[in-house]
Amino acid sequence: MHIESPQPQYDVVVVGGGMVGASFALDLARRCDNADLKILIVEAIASSDLNDQPSFDARSTALSFGSKTIYEAMGLWSALAETVTPILQIQVSDRGRFGSTQLTHAEQGVAALGYVVENRELGRVLNHSLAASSVIEQLAPATITGVVPRASGMQLTVLNGDHEIEVNGSLVVLADGGRSPICKNLGIGHKQEDYGQHAIITNIAFELSHAGTAFERFTDSGPLAVLPLASFDGLNRGALVWTVAAERSADLLDCDDKRFLAGLTDYFGGRLGEI
Ligand SMILES: Cc1cc2nc3c(=O)[nH]c(=O)nc-3n(C[C@H](O)[C@H](O)[C@H](O)COP(=O)(O)OP(=O)(O)OC[C@H]3O[C@@H](n4cnc5c(N)ncnc54)[C@H](O)[C@@H]3O)c2cc1C
Repeated sequence: MHIESPQPQYDVVVVGGGMVGASFALDLARRCDNADLKILIVEAIASSDLNDQPSFDARSTALSFGSKTIYEAMGLWSALAETVTPILQIQVSDRGRFGSTQLTHAEQGVAALGYVVENRELGRVLNHSLAASSVIEQLAPATITGVVPRASGMQLTVLNGDHEIEVNGSLVVLADGGRSPICKNLGIGHKQEDYGQHAIITNIAFELSHAGTAFERFTDSGPLAVLPLASFDGLNRGALVWTVAAERSADLLDCDDKRFLAGLTDYFGGRLGEI
């Protein structure tokens, strides 16, 4: 449920209501149904501004069979099933080399090898479920600006509108993204390695239907993936992740569509006709 102002004490405070924080809070609430837990989730971006939330923009996510099973247990799958695209086969190829490998759902004896969900739709379903929950209190937009360990748990500073309030959590879950300044301030480190590669992410449309195929193609500049998306406005859509050498990415992002698509066709080939 949405709240305007938090209480002083919670059992669990989740920082960040993106894909990870929202999924975690909802699953925790389900698993602890009888435990009378008090859960607060704090998200910096208002749920009405879903497009601005990094987890829920125009990108897509491939949900594995295991993730589908978890969302099913959480009672969210029926809402997600209306929007996901099943992956019926996966084609793996190596640019410049002969042949390809095909994995099919029929061979594996499953309805689908995975499901592609558009992040915006996942955000809509998760936020709807958070708003409907009687266990989880959702404070958004509000920002956690500080976390200090105390003997009985953690003390958090919450910037809610233009005033700061203190909230205590017996357990704090940091789901505030990969570049978390809170982790850094708490001394929780991470290692980063530069591969010299950038991933260009966009949605594209093909002349031919993808027929539920996901493509994974290894190239000299890194992997190129195309996930199948549901048709829209008669377009055979796919979600592209194109890994390119870091020094080439600026040029590809700046060039016109014609040159971009010629470069992409050179890497992806004509499997689905004209892109
Ligand atoms: C092209 C691409 C494809 C991907 N495909 C897949 C895939 O197929 N399958 C998969 O599992 N993963 C995939 N990923 C990874 C996945 O997108 C990320 O792991 C996921 O978005 C991380 O979610 P998150 O909730 O941890 O962080 P984020 O999405 O970064 O969300 C963090 C949230 O915390 C909020 N926040 C931050 N700081 C604060 C604060 N101080 N106070 C309050 N709120 C705060 C932010 O507003 C935000 O909403 C992909 C990533 C990319 C780039």
